Amino acid sequence: MADYDLAIIGGGLNGVSLARDAAGRGLRVILLEQGDLGAGASQASPRLIHGDLSVLERRAFLRVRAALAERDIWLRIAPHLVRPMRFVIPAHSDERPSWLLRSGLLLYDRLASRTHLPASATIDVTHHPIGNALKRPFGTAFEYSDCVVDDSRLVILNAVDAAERGASIRTGARCVRADRLDTWRLSAIDRGHRQVITARALANATGAWTASVAETVLRMPPPNLATVQMSQIVVRRLFDTDSVYVFQNSDRRLIFASPYERDFTLIGTVGHAFKGDPAIVSMQAADVAYLCDAANRYFRERIEPVDVVRTVSGANAVMDPQGRRAARDGVATFDAGRGKAPLLTMFGGDVTTSRRRAEWAVSRLTPFYPMSARWTAKAPLPGGDFAWSRFDAQLDVVRERWRFLTEAQAQRLVAAYGSRIEAVLGDAKSRTDLGPAFGPELTGAEVRYLMAREWARFPDDILWRRSKLGLTMPPQDRDALAAFMATAP
Ligand SMILES: Cc1cc2nc3c(=O)[nH]c(=O)nc-3n(C[C@H](O)[C@H](O)[C@H](O)COP(=O)(O)OP(=O)(O)OC[C@H]3O[C@@H](n4cnc5c(N)ncnc54)[C@H](O)[C@@H]3O)c2cc1C
Repeated sequence: MADYDLAIIGGGLNGVSLARDAAGRGLRVILLEQGDLGAGASQASPRLIHGDLSVLERRAFLRVRAALAERDIWLRIAPHLVRPMRFVIPAHSDERPSWLLRSGLLLYDRLASRTHLPASATIDVTHHPIGNALKRPFGTAFEYSDCVVDDSRLVILNAVDAAERGASIRTGARCVRADRLDTWRLSAIDRGHRQVITARALANATGAWTASVAETVLRMPPPNLATVQMSQIVVRRLFDTDSVYVFQNSDRRLIFASPYERDFTLIGTVGHAFKGDPAIVSMQAADVAYLCDAANRYFRERIEPVDVVRTVSGANAVMDPQGRRAARDGVATFDAGRGKAPLLTMFGGDVTTSRRRAEWAVSRLTPFYPMSARWTAKAPLPGGDFAWSRFDAQLDVVRERWRFLTEAQAQRLVAAYGSRIEAVLGDAKSRTDLGPAFGPELTGAEVRYLMAREWARFPDDILWRRSKLGLTMPPQDRDALAAFMATAP
């Protein structure tokens, strides 16, 4: 008998979503990730949970409606990670006429009819705080509701849920070979040790590595797909309102400027074809300049490339075997035959539709195994067992219980851990009860939790994926964190 029902190669959003879905349906699942969870494209998403206005512009109304239904699901199952926001589009007659924007947003409201988020509105920015950050010529803007998500923690919490439902999650485990017989026989280098694993079905969820894994690990004809790079920049906070600005760039692309980790602004995205090793994706100077220019058309405060404190880039596969451009739904293919163990291949797609994509893919295995019904739309992710409208109430409870936390600290912790915050803070009565401090926010207690429960092994795993505390951590504290992690039990 095979060790597992399903082996998944790749611990990005697609891989962990498959793991969560399959483990919750009773399959024996193993996931192999060569580095850290979400270290590939999944940490470079635009961080939006949305119906996508650009898809609406292409008149793909059913897609928009389906994505907005997913938005409702995310709000319900991940109220800590997903935050409803007002998105603001300054009217700009050079790009899209105001009547077009207004009618598009009314349609967007209609397509999202099940949600309780506020409807779109027209605002006079000359008398509204939204206008403070904008250049003078903008008199009118349109406002609508959508959501932002902590994309990296979404990956981690999918993996935590999968593990709690029985999946084996292995980070630092590179799959180097997979032989297809009536079951799959995989060889993995797991933290330096070669391991052989057998599984009844295999999923290749390796993002930009999909074709090379097919060719060199599975030794099959690689799918005909292209790779694109997507990048964003982080600068010091450019505005005080808690809204996302949506700018219509001169090339008709929509550029988003979002509040990011309290003191910063995230601006993106820019994308183009990518060639090379997906593990080493860096942002080109021309792309940084492009995003600065896009922001400078709208914001009063100018930004230059020198103001960029961090760039965020990832590479992702975008074509399916027919050469059709992979839509926001991504691509999931299924291959099985007499005497051939099943193979799922899943790549691309956006964050909003990732849960549904995994549900569809795992359902393809139904003829092969007895498994329980679809379930992921109803079950909260770890820590998400409260209504999204109760986020502030949750915050009050936390501040009442751990009085030494500042509002900003409590906010970050609730947004990261939701109702599981107690597992991080325990019975601490003061900040010193939480152990050594690394930078202004991180404590030994949180580091221990992340190592024990969320597979963190190295400082970057914590500073850039399980949090974004790397933005504010001084170099000497980073060194202290590395030393602490190296010796932590
Ligand atoms: C260019 C680009 C476009 C995007 N477009 C959108 C968008 O429009 N909207 C949106 O919401 N989001 C978008 N996203 C982000 C979205 O999050 C990604 O599409 C999604 O997260 C892809 O996840 P993945 O799991 O397929 O890939 P990845 O996150 O890259 O994960 C693949 C993983 O496989 C691992 N791996 C590779 N080979 C092996 C091996 N041999 N053994 C073990 N592990 C291996 C890698 O280490 C990696 O962690 C985009 C991202 C990028 C970079």
